[in-house]
Amino acid sequence: MMSNDFKQFKLSQEINNALYDLDYTSPTEVQQKVLPHALEERDLIVKAQTGSGKTAAFAIPICEKIKWIENKPQALILTPTRELAVQVKEEFTNIGRYKRIKAAALYGKQPFRYQQDELKQKTHVAVGTPGRVLDHIEKGTLKLDKIRYVVLDEADEMLNMGFIEQVEAILAHLSTEPIMMLFSATVPEEIKNLSANFLNEPVDIVVHNEEAAPKIEHGVMEVGEEEKLSTLAKVAVVENPDTCIIFCRTKDRVDEVHDYLYDREYSVDKLHGGMDQSTRLLVMNDFKRGDFRYLVATDVAARGIDIENISLVINYDLPMEKEAYVHRTGRTGRAGLAGKAITFVTPFEEEFLAGIEEFIGFTIPKMTLPTHEEVEAKVDAFDKKMAARPERKKQKSAKVDAKITKLYFNGGKKKKLRAIDFVGTIAKLPGMTAADIGIITILDASTFVEILNGKGQLVLKAMKTTPIKGKQLKVHIANN
Ligand code: AMP
Repeated sequence: MMSNDFKQFKLSQEINNALYDLDYTSPTEVQQKVLPHALEERDLIVKAQTGSGKTAAFAIPICEKIKWIENKPQALILTPTRELAVQVKEEFTNIGRYKRIKAAALYGKQPFRYQQDELKQKTHVAVGTPGRVLDHIEKGTLKLDKIRYVVLDEADEMLNMGFIEQVEAILAHLSTEPIMMLFSATVPEEIKNLSANFLNEPVDIVVHNEEAAPKIEHGVMEVGEEEKLSTLAKVAVVENPDTCIIFCRTKDRVDEVHDYLYDREYSVDKLHGGMDQSTRLLVMNDFKRGDFRYLVATDVAARGIDIENISLVINYDLPMEKEAYVHRTGRTGRAGLAGKAITFVTPFEEEFLAGIEEFIGFTIPKMTLPTHEEVEAKVDAFDKKMAARPERKKQKSAKVDAKITKLYFNGGKKKKLRAIDFVGTIAKLPGMTAADIGIITILDASTFVEILNGKGQLVLKAMKTTPIKGKQLKVHIANN
């Protein structure tokens, strides 16, 4: 019988330890199917959804195979959205932590210069959206001559968003014939063509993922446009969710709904494409941590984003694209937990609703509007929950992070310091080995060094009186 833990794959100690600290005790179906082939370096085409553990399915074998010593990127991961790029980068950083794997996220809106500087450092994995990645390739800031692995993540989404030509242009720049893995929730003709043109005898993997299939209770409510806000407030009371995403069509609608709930002292924040990237990431992280209960968002928040335990999704506006219904409602009912999706539909939208129902293959049951009595009966429980602080969700990387201390040194490139100088000095301190040193980031006038395995204080104390290359640097714990 096949063992149901990760030992069967004979991964290195560093990767196994990271999986253990991330609480990844047994492989998910997609990991079980992908890992043996990926470790044998076969090309793969994998039909799998988000939520199946697909990111780790490619990140584990790639982290295992990466050669730390090489400075130029060895893996290139293309994703349809910035949010997904950041998330994939985090998965690589978590899984590759004890192997000191450095991943960079490359996406639009963030200044090009910042990413250019990051790429000058040792970078094992480059994760990015096609437009910005192509930009880096054409400007010579992303070097491809050591790329051994290429992953096209959510290939169907890249196709829907019109990125396929850019993806092909990127692949045409490769001179190395890397191992290619293509992940896609659906495999339309264009994706098959892409695979036929660029993949070499790929292994076909289909993930059914029945255990992880979302258990979502769907419902539609017929609501006139002018009653939407008041109905939303009633639904919130009656459903009283722990966490809820409310999807709107445009950013103005997001603002309107957000302000309405905010004025009524809901625990609420918002997310749309008009906000700057760093604010979006902050909001997303706060929501992931459980700092507030209601997130009002446009579809930018629906794609590929991994937030656990959303109990309710409300489609305040019917999605414009049929696929978006699946993405939006797929935010709830993840990892086998129960979830609910309520869609508001105005009398003029019946036709669009029929299109969605045809696409998803079932009729969404009609729900009646909450009655005055129902609202009255539930309002106390609702007020009580609103007054309580939402429960903090466990950070997935908490155990990995807890053992890491990031130290700041006041010297870098200008003082001609290199990573090897830091490793050489720190690894020789009593009680230390090179395996206790994590990612090193050298800037012009400063350097950040991660110290692993809870040895941060030991190194901090020792380095206050230990010179590096004859220079005594100032050292303290880095602010995040
Ligand atoms: P993904 O499909 O890559 O978006 O992953 C969905 C979620 O599953 C993420 O929160 C992962 O951290 C989590 N995950 C991935 N692999 C495992 C595993 N083997 N055990 C437990 N959780 C996992």
